[in-house]
Amino acid sequence: MIKVFLAIIVCKWLRSVGKVFGRGSSLPGKIALKICPEVLSKVKLCENVVAITGSNGKTSTTELICDTLQKCEIDVVCNREGSNQIEGVTTLILCNCDLRGRFKKQAIVMETDERFARKIFEFFAPKYYIITNIFRDQLTRNRHPEWIFDVVKKSISKTTRLILNADDPLVSALGQGCENATYYSVDSNIFLGERIREIYDDGSFCPICKWPLRYEGRNFGTLGKFTCENCGNKSQHSSFTVTCVDAENKAVKISGDHGDEHVIKVQNLNPHSVYNVLAAFVACFHIGVEGDKLAGALSSHVSTSGRLTEFDFCGHRATLLISKHENPVSYDRSIEYALNQGQEVAVAIVVNKISRKYFTSETSWLWDINFEKLKAFKIKKIFLIGRYCYDLATRFDCAGVEGNKVFVEQDLERAREILEREAAGELFIITCFADKQDVMKIFGK
Ligand SMILES: [Zn+2]
Repeated sequence: MIKVFLAIIVCKWLRSVGKVFGRGSSLPGKIALKICPEVLSKVKLCENVVAITGSNGKTSTTELICDTLQKCEIDVVCNREGSNQIEGVTTLILCNCDLRGRFKKQAIVMETDERFARKIFEFFAPKYYIITNIFRDQLTRNRHPEWIFDVVKKSISKTTRLILNADDPLVSALGQGCENATYYSVDSNIFLGERIREIYDDGSFCPICKWPLRYEGRNFGTLGKFTCENCGNKSQHSSFTVTCVDAENKAVKISGDHGDEHVIKVQNLNPHSVYNVLAAFVACFHIGVEGDKLAGALSSHVSTSGRLTEFDFCGHRATLLISKHENPVSYDRSIEYALNQGQEVAVAIVVNKISRKYFTSETSWLWDINFEKLKAFKIKKIFLIGRYCYDLATRFDCAGVEGNKVFVEQDLERAREILEREAAGELFIITCFADKQDVMKIFGK
């Protein structure tokens, strides 16, 4: 017990010192785990332990759930800074415990890295475990979706209620044989505007028997209503379904399988945002927030993630769209967004630093993005910017994009000068959190 006490006190102290110096939240947890490696199994957590994992949407869904619970007067904490490995989660938990290891809040919402969730859940099982999707992401870390499927599967405990995306064949398969699972789904063909398909197809084959899958329709990536005619694997029955998207009022309708319906206002009607809102609704519903109150709280959510920032650039309306480097599905959604705006569009793609957390110069993921779509007539100019601009240029050349509308520049300052001179119509800058700060420093001024 003395080790637990020591781990907690050192963690709290390091965190408060770290805050003064603007340091991240991983180090205190790391030291606490050195003092007491099993500290997470020794603390007494609250009843409502919610975990979120998946390739895309973890941070946004965590933020949505946490803010909604707060609005519903539930005392809750989450790892908003995105420290989602065991050290960050340890910091979050210990800093909210008293010195005897009793967690002081009513609920905890934790984003967990899909690779490291199993390490965290060796020590405790979350009550609710949301799995958003499993896509191609960070090849050098996460290899292939099938590998992540196996890793995530090992993180699931029998006592946990799974909250699963029924539209993702891999996620849906995680619930097979599990009675303790709730599924959610978004009807196909309810989104307006041009939608682009990935240029590869990870949803081609059944994850169980490898027979070709048949889809009734897809929202994006591998997400849609699917059936395997060989082994009978299909989208599980969804208890909560988005059945309508109202573009005029920026709202979605969630229909429960007991006939109940709720309308939620959303900031962004992108398909991936709609999935996040739905997952958050299901989680809060299970925690016990009553439907209408929940719909009201979710509707008033204002995202602080800065994934879509609008500003003026030399008289042009400019939008910074944050995607994830090494994550083609995320890039495809940004391209889709740009294609669905304005009459005359310029697109700038910035790949300067691939990751904030580690070094890699691996750029094969550029070949999985549907850049061919930028051949569209309305795309007047394309700017390829940053350290990896020549990798981008090779990709665009193979995509068959007309060379006279493409500008290539490695240096961000010089790229700004080119953009000042050449930008046409509405400008969309597509990059990643890893490069956001540098991009805003140069283009946002
Ligand atoms: Zn099958």
